[in-house]
Amino acid sequence: MKWTKMLIQTLRDDPQDAEIDSHKLLVRASLVKKLSGGLYTFLPLGLRTFRKVENIIREELDRAGALEVVMPILQPAELWKQSGRWEAMGPNMFKLRDRAEKPYALGPTAEEEVTDLVKSIVSSYRQLPVTVYQFQWKFRDEIRPRFGLMRSKEFMMKDAYSFDVSMEAADASYKAMYDAYVRIFARCGLKAYPVEADTGDIGGKFSHEFHVLADAGEDGIAFCPCCGYAANLEKAERKVAAVAGDPCPAYEEVHTPNAKTIDQVSAFMGVPGSAFVKSLIYSADGEPVMVCVPGDRDVNEVKLKHFLEAGKLELADYEMVLAASGANAGSVGPVKPAKAGLRIVADMSLKGATGRIVGANKDDYHLKNVDMARDTTIAEADYADLVIAQAGDICPRCGKPMDLKRGIEVGHVFKLGTKYTDAFKAVYKNDQLQESVMVMGCYGIGVSRTVQAVIEQSHDRDGIIWPAGVAPFQVVIDLLDPADESVAKVALELESALESAGVDVLVDDRADRPGVKFKDADLIGFPVRVVVGAKGLANGGVEVKRRDQDKSHMKIVPVAEAVAAIKALLA
Ligand code: ATP
Ligand code: MG
Repeated sequence: MKWTKMLIQTLRDDPQDAEIDSHKLLVRASLVKKLSGGLYTFLPLGLRTFRKVENIIREELDRAGALEVVMPILQPAELWKQSGRWEAMGPNMFKLRDRAEKPYALGPTAEEEVTDLVKSIVSSYRQLPVTVYQFQWKFRDEIRPRFGLMRSKEFMMKDAYSFDVSMEAADASYKAMYDAYVRIFARCGLKAYPVEADTGDIGGKFSHEFHVLADAGEDGIAFCPCCGYAANLEKAERKVAAVAGDPCPAYEEVHTPNAKTIDQVSAFMGVPGSAFVKSLIYSADGEPVMVCVPGDRDVNEVKLKHFLEAGKLELADYEMVLAASGANAGSVGPVKPAKAGLRIVADMSLKGATGRIVGANKDDYHLKNVDMARDTTIAEADYADLVIAQAGDICPRCGKPMDLKRGIEVGHVFKLGTKYTDAFKAVYKNDQLQESVMVMGCYGIGVSRTVQAVIEQSHDRDGIIWPAGVAPFQVVIDLLDPADESVAKVALELESALESAGVDVLVDDRADRPGVKFKDADLIGFPVRVVVGAKGLANGGVEVKRRDQDKSHMKIVPVAEAVAAIKALLA
């Protein structure tokens, strides 16, 4: 393929809206073009990488026995009403109507659609297990589309769904997909870590997100360097050693005027935030609950919601806070709140704590010398792990301190159980002709996000460094003297020899200066660069170099040996 025929337009300057390197490079290297916020066109170069990633995924899923289908993007509202998600998806879902006013959604995902499909075909245990998958554009009205393809309004997802006869059988389907994901990301040249993720209402350890570690990642991950435990911060647990606080005198009131936040009171009293107990009133399914955590930590609402087994959890409004505690939000505390019998739950690290400062349930007052056991009515069973894990917290598995990392979620495997098959009455008959509900799993990969994650993980100051398996072209031939027929002939013969050897190659046949070509080759990041020029040929051959090596590794190889040398560099 010739450069001059490829619709390539590299840019010297970063796009204005790009905050992270991979987004800048994606646009500057002419892989995609922005249409408007969160909407991108794949240009020929970018589409080549996109297709390679897609093919790797397809090969591995086929290998795992999954079956490819393509389901409509336009999904009738009835499907979503049947699962209850027509409302629950909220404003994230694009909704529209046809000319007869019939409502539809542009699919943000396809659990409903696939359950309806499989239910209509599968009726016997003999047809199970079955895993189907598709590559399909998904639509989400993200609050903040950003980072290019990372969080866009329209993106390519590979979504797969497994159907099994039982929970145990579903575990095997889950494992098969998990293993396929490990192979897929490795083949894309990505270091992606399986990370335990929140399972919503399902429970168990059956949700893993695959994360590419990168500072630009939007998710926090607790990571144990010692045993490899990795969990999304939404879910990450921590071990807490019991504290045996020193006995303290009876608590007393302190006047803390105009100090509302922990920072303000801590500055006012001259004690560190950790000496405080932060107390918040939540509404759990409409009932007030007080939640106490150390003053320097934050409540993990996902863990809290599970602990309370609440369907809906939100911070209480002003009235509820006042009625429950007797004060405004800045002065709430666990000692004698206004509402008799108010449930108070607390983070484990507060169990046995003494000498703490808490809100007095009276505006502008705090209490000091609070002994959590002596002065509050928190039940033994209401101490739990309720805060967001942070660096230095103790690993729940091996007891060593954990690190905090940032990650980009490229894939997600999830054992769903019967949430959708119950809603759709997707049943099969066993060998006794008794009916049971199928057990489901769902498995997503953000294909377009994965393309960009490769760039985020593999680039330098000059541009992208593509892993050979997903590069738009594996080799670029910089033809330095395109007007010189004998030189051009060498380049074109090398191109066809490489193509015959199964290597895809782009010939930079532009009339530009060598410096321009070298810069662009580095920017786009072809794994191997070959320079064919009159001077080099006079010196014995063509120059070859890998993108990830510096100039000192440049070699001159005779034309006759070039294909072998290039293949060796790609291997
Ligand atoms: P996130 O937490 O990043 O919003 P999600 O958990 O909502 O993602 P899933 O429903 O698990 O996403 O979708 C499967 C995969 O689709 C994700 O792992 C991710 O790679 C990709 N993906 C999700 N939302 C987007 C988006 N707006 N743009 C690009 N890719 C996305
Ligand atoms: Mg996810």
